[in-house]
Amino acid sequence: MMRGAHSRLEWMAGILAIWILCVACYAAFSVNSSLKRAEGELNETGFLLHRMISQRVAQHDAHLTTLVSLVLAAEDGQSQPLTQVGESIMRFYPRITAINELEITWREPSASAEARRILSIPADARVPDDRSLAAAVFMQKAGEGKSYVDASSSAGYLLTKKVRDSNPAPALVLQIDPKRLVDIDELPDWVFLQLQLDGRVVMERPAGEKASGWLAPLRFSRMIDSQSQPLLLTVERRVSLADLVDVATLAMVAAASLGGIALFGYSLRHRREARLLQAAAERAEQRSILLAREARLAHAARVNSLGELASGIAHELAQPLTALMSQSRAAERLLEQSGMDNPLLKKTMAANVREARRAGDMLKRMRDYISNRPPKPVAVEINKIVGDTVDLMHADLEQRGIALDLSLAGNLPVLMADPVELEQVLNNLIRNAAESLVEAGIEQGRVTIATMLEGDRVRIDIRDNGPGIKEALLPRLFEPFFTTKPDGMGLGLALCSTLVERVGGQIEARNELDGGACFTVRLTVASEEASR
Ligand code: ADP
Repeated sequence: MMRGAHSRLEWMAGILAIWILCVACYAAFSVNSSLKRAEGELNETGFLLHRMISQRVAQHDAHLTTLVSLVLAAEDGQSQPLTQVGESIMRFYPRITAINELEITWREPSASAEARRILSIPADARVPDDRSLAAAVFMQKAGEGKSYVDASSSAGYLLTKKVRDSNPAPALVLQIDPKRLVDIDELPDWVFLQLQLDGRVVMERPAGEKASGWLAPLRFSRMIDSQSQPLLLTVERRVSLADLVDVATLAMVAAASLGGIALFGYSLRHRREARLLQAAAERAEQRSILLAREARLAHAARVNSLGELASGIAHELAQPLTALMSQSRAAERLLEQSGMDNPLLKKTMAANVREARRAGDMLKRMRDYISNRPPKPVAVEINKIVGDTVDLMHADLEQRGIALDLSLAGNLPVLMADPVELEQVLNNLIRNAAESLVEAGIEQGRVTIATMLEGDRVRIDIRDNGPGIKEALLPRLFEPFFTTKPDGMGLGLALCSTLVERVGGQIEARNELDGGACFTVRLTVASEEASR
């Protein structure tokens, strides 16, 4: 009971472990593919933004170059409508929020710069009056664009260009609103966007979605392709647990896998139990075969010891009986010689002799019955014995569909043997051959009996075209009680060898080269005298 409950618990724990593993594997797979998808989307958006911003900042450089050439042209006396061009640029590109033309003067020995406004678009535009900015722009190479974070305002960054290397030097400053570099409303909700210039954030757009904070956000980060405006673009995406695993699908997978695994486990368990039951049944069957064999052995031993006991008693009784008989006969003779006429005494003595003889006869019959009766060899023709045996068995073999071949040598010498015992030997060997053919299901079964002269012996072969005998079993065949048949006694061959050997013959078994078993009996030829 306890073991059964224990193994059921183990079984359930096993199923649970496999199920958890399956669900975990699915969850890991789902997380991995969702992450890959999110990463793909992030990179796609990142590259798109990068290309767009790079193109737009390049336009700033182009506008600045146009404006510089207008300033230079004005100095050459050609009156150019800088204000007009500037205004139309700002109208088409609203992210350029102001255009300033400055004159920067470098003062020695204080080594400082001063900026003076020449022109502003719009007219009320704030002029960056930071002296360090004026000095930095003065230090720029003429015609080279450079960007600065506008420290005095949060309205973006400044793109500057010195028009000419002179003191004072004219310079142009564009004020750019980076928020308008991107069409923010068209960005997906999850996008967190940031632009930095010289390590300072000039624009930030937070993500719309609220995502769980314990997962590190996925990040795309790249410098904008521009010499004059080296902006660092960063796009981030936060992923929530719900993004990574679809709970409904996970629940379905969990339910389906639990069902599948339980079914599989159940069928495995069922099969294992069936195997165990079968093994137990086989063991029980073997045990019962063993027990039956033991019982037969015990019976044989009992019969044997009973026989020995009886033969001992018979032997012991024989002597006193013989003495009784001879004494009674002697008494009879004495009575006759003495001339005494005592009919009662004579009758008693005669009865003694008669009863003693009767007891002796009874003892002899009993000893014959229980003892190993010695054979009564007579001169026999082996071919005739074979013929008689085959006549008896022919019908039975035919019924089992087994053909019988005889190959009997002519003019064989006469043997000294007990014909009944010899028939018994042949009968056993032919029956065994037939049984092996039937058991193996051989379709064209055949038993061949051959007789021949071999030196001074007559040889009899009984062979079949059955499965033969396993090599390992050959040495044990003639042991009493050795059998491979479920209902065999294992006494047939043991008896054969006893009967053959006690008339001086031999019996052996082997496998034929082309399969099948062959039993050979060799018997001694009778002397000339005996055969007459
Ligand atoms: P039993 O026939 O009761 O088994 P035997 O002493 O006659 O007892 O035979 C002992 C065993 O020898 C058989 O169980 C069988 O395995 C084997 N045997 C005997 N004759 C043949 C044969 N012609 N072919 C194959 N096996 C044989």
